Amino acid sequence: MAGEGIARSTSMTFSSQLRIPGPTPLPERVVRSMSRPMVDHRGPEFSAILAEITAGAKRVFKTSSDLLFLTSSGTGGLESAVANLVSPGDEVVVALCGNFGERFAALASAYGADVVRLEFEWGQPVDAEDLALVLEKHPKAKLLLLTHNETSTGLTNPLRELARVGRDAGRVVVVDGVSSISSIEIETDGWGIDVAVSGSQKGWMAPPGLALVSVSERAWEMQSRARAPRYYFDWKEAKTWADKGMTPFTTAVSVAFALQEGIRMLEEEGLAKVYERHARLARATQAGLQALGFKLFARDGFRSNTVTAALPPEGLNVEPFRKLLHDRYGVVIAGGQNKMAGKMVRVGHLGAVGEGDIVQVLWAMEQALEEMDIAPADGRGVAAVTSSLQGVPA
Ligand SMILES: *Cc1c(COP(=O)(O)O)cnc(C)c1O
Repeated sequence: MAGEGIARSTSMTFSSQLRIPGPTPLPERVVRSMSRPMVDHRGPEFSAILAEITAGAKRVFKTSSDLLFLTSSGTGGLESAVANLVSPGDEVVVALCGNFGERFAALASAYGADVVRLEFEWGQPVDAEDLALVLEKHPKAKLLLLTHNETSTGLTNPLRELARVGRDAGRVVVVDGVSSISSIEIETDGWGIDVAVSGSQKGWMAPPGLALVSVSERAWEMQSRARAPRYYFDWKEAKTWADKGMTPFTTAVSVAFALQEGIRMLEEEGLAKVYERHARLARATQAGLQALGFKLFARDGFRSNTVTAALPPEGLNVEPFRKLLHDRYGVVIAGGQNKMAGKMVRVGHLGAVGEGDIVQVLWAMEQALEEMDIAPADGRGVAAVTSSLQGVPA
């Protein structure tokens, strides 16, 4: 086939292009920030870093509430919300439309909550009117769990509306913003969100290891009465120590070095520009995938700026395709989760990702499709990406 020569010449890969929705690529500045001696996690050097990343993260979350750093992946941050806010037997409303919403519901069940599920098909957003009805039917449910960006389906829920519905109904609103905060617009205080959770390995350009959790006054009030067991993730402990410039337990110090640099980079670029870059990369990825015969999974109008999910063209086997991309082109994309395993590709474009990275991933996909005898590599994927980036209507 025509592309064979090109493919052979790239059989040696020099670097890995991480195009999964977390962990995300680390900028060189971030990598360097971690190449330094360890410091005392209860000493003045670490206190200064904690103060800087706390202030910076609050500006990114757009909150004046407390912001806690927990040593865990994003799920630990979500678990902390459940452990601190739920009492066994409590009714909790969970609005879900994908795998991460499922995880949130499972977490609440694990802590003894009586979970009321408001469920939508994968690829569809949570509907605000339906949410209002469910809350009306369940007045005893004081807690509402929402997912902002559903990473499993490449969909961003209309969080501003959903949070307003929750707030208007007097509920404490908890948001999984792990794959959105710092990449997609969110206003924690402005939108009435009581608890928002993110993770260092997503848009923050740092390695996995720290969960970021904001806690409003209303959430603190609920926390003081909640009776689920908690120890490692006790927010009160985290807050008591944070007020002294420390963490209750040994924290992921090196990840904090990285997060400090990542937040500096976000603020140097400017949050508005960061959001706009993610939107531009998402549009280009969508255009490229469609040109290659993939079908975008999430409903139009709700597609995520941080991850694009797509169904493969007829005849394409997703797992060998991903393996070929990895082995020959050094490009790593994600597959589907849970019931979509083996049926979907997901391309992450969050954090330290630029325009050339999107050209590269679509170029590699186009080559791989030819190699797998699905379609000739005639440049249409890359052309679609380029047109999109130049703002040329498709
Ligand atoms: C990545 C992610 C998480 C957290 O996953 P961890 O592997 O625990 O960091 C939670 N929710 C969403 C929406 C995510 O994208």
